[in-house]
Amino acid sequence: MNQTNVLKEQNQVPEPTLRRLPWYLSNAKLLRQQGAQYVSSTQISKATNIEASQIAKDLSYVAITGRTRVGYDVGELIHVLEDFLGFTQGHKAFLFGVGSLGGALLGDSGLLHFGMEIVGAFDINPAKVGTTINGIPIFHTNSFEERMRDHAVNIGILTVPIEIAQTITDKMVAGGIKAVWNFTPFRIRVPYGIVVQNTSLYAHLAVMFNRLNAAL
Ligand code: ATP
Repeated sequence: MNQTNVLKEQNQVPEPTLRRLPWYLSNAKLLRQQGAQYVSSTQISKATNIEASQIAKDLSYVAITGRTRVGYDVGELIHVLEDFLGFTQGHKAFLFGVGSLGGALLGDSGLLHFGMEIVGAFDINPAKVGTTINGIPIFHTNSFEERMRDHAVNIGILTVPIEIAQTITDKMVAGGIKAVWNFTPFRIRVPYGIVVQNTSLYAHLAVMFNRLNAAL
């Protein structure tokens, strides 16, 4: 590992911290709705069931300092967390495979609130190509390379049938996609430097069934 890579690794926020930060954000938003102006680590701890010391450690990665006795300014906490998590940056994405799952993601306006704008989708089914869902146009897969030239898109969402998951991933990467959000249960391979986030519902089911069996 060279010097640059070592520094990069050291600056990386641990994944468990990154997964907890959105919980603090949701909690802070709820408190703002309730009219709170300040929140302490102890209060967040009670609401999220995470140790106050862990919360303080997690928040040390973001540029915010609490005030003695009163805690963090709620508005500032929300702003800083949204910024840090990239929720304010407006990442653009393309989606491949407008089946039931892909269609549902196109219909979910919540993604936009978390900084992800799906600007277009691709499919090969003639009944779907040329239509829109939630205002998002569905194009033929063949026109992907051309559309990449028109939009500054670096995220690809993968909701195609499992048999073509790798082929479509290769196509996305060759076209310039830098991060793949993979909803298929297939372990896609990508070149070094391309980000993959696996979110297979079925994989999570396996964990839940296993824990449920252990609890019964
Ligand atoms: P459907 O609504 O067609 O019944 P489904 O929910 O059963 O779909 P899948 O069979 O997993 O889901 O297919 C997901 C989508 O992927 C479908 O809309 C299909 O047309 C689309 N698809 C298949 N091949 C490609 C491809 N090469 N590029 C993009 N999309 C594709």
